[in-house]
Amino acid sequence: MKKNEQLIILELMNRRGMIKDKSLLYRLKNGFEGELEFIQWFGKYNKSHWTLETDYWFDMDGLKQIDDLLISSQKWIVVDVKHYWGKFQYINGNCILNNKLMKTDIFDSLETKTKKIRRLVADINSNIRVDSAMIFIGEHCQVELDCVPMAQVVMRNELMSFITGLEYANPMTDWMTRKIVDKLNEYRTKERPPDIALAPEQFSELLKGIQLDGCGHNDFSTDNRWITCKVCGTKETFKSVVSRHAIELSYLFYYYPKIVTTKNVHALMGGQITKRTVQKYLKEEFKVVGMRKNCYYKVR
Ligand SMILES: [Zn+2]
Repeated sequence: MKKNEQLIILELMNRRGMIKDKSLLYRLKNGFEGELEFIQWFGKYNKSHWTLETDYWFDMDGLKQIDDLLISSQKWIVVDVKHYWGKFQYINGNCILNNKLMKTDIFDSLETKTKKIRRLVADINSNIRVDSAMIFIGEHCQVELDCVPMAQVVMRNELMSFITGLEYANPMTDWMTRKIVDKLNEYRTKERPPDIALAPEQFSELLKGIQLDGCGHNDFSTDNRWITCKVCGTKETFKSVVSRHAIELSYLFYYYPKIVTTKNVHALMGGQITKRTVQKYLKEEFKVVGMRKNCYYKVR
């Protein structure tokens, strides 16, 4: 599963010293980790022919996102994965997390999405049942409910039995698989565009310097092809480093693609590699758009 663009941007902004309030970053990161864990466990314990559609964005009278769709030929389950820490309460239709009232009713929102999926599935085969499940995957999460929600509530320590307890699913025929894929694609949309990104005038505020993939240090040695971290030994080729920094720029300034120029990539890398080298690899890797002086690279 891919990270969503909002999270990619926030992580990059964080590495460049551009975030003061990190709460959204932690929330999204946490959500992503919970989701990954669910996918891993599903892969491990699913022994019959259920398939998984993850991070499904669709538009059926409005844009919605579903964490996971569990799909079989007889039944589908719409799944939301919540990676909460602490105490979650559902009281009088209010969602309260660690004594703080949440803005959304997570059960209501899951039910709305489930109803939409029922409409979608009815077009495939009206005999397929659609249920929903709310998975609380946090290790240190307690849940207190004052009613029985429409969705099945599954705690972390019940997740294995939830997956192994799914009714046996027969193998899907090719015809059915195609029909499902087509139907999902009919409503599928791109994820919601990020609402956090930098403006060009913020370029000067960015922490500059080369950042190797998976290394947080800034003491490097270079030879003809490689940049090597003197602290942890991480190695990356010039070509990979240059293109990654170009991609990084395009995410940081998501709505200003023209910012990806040789000059700016060179500056982002703190001038630690010559402009000529930067340009050489950018030209090799990406399409040049525009004329000489005003040209930029199309990286996404
Ligand atoms: Zn390092």
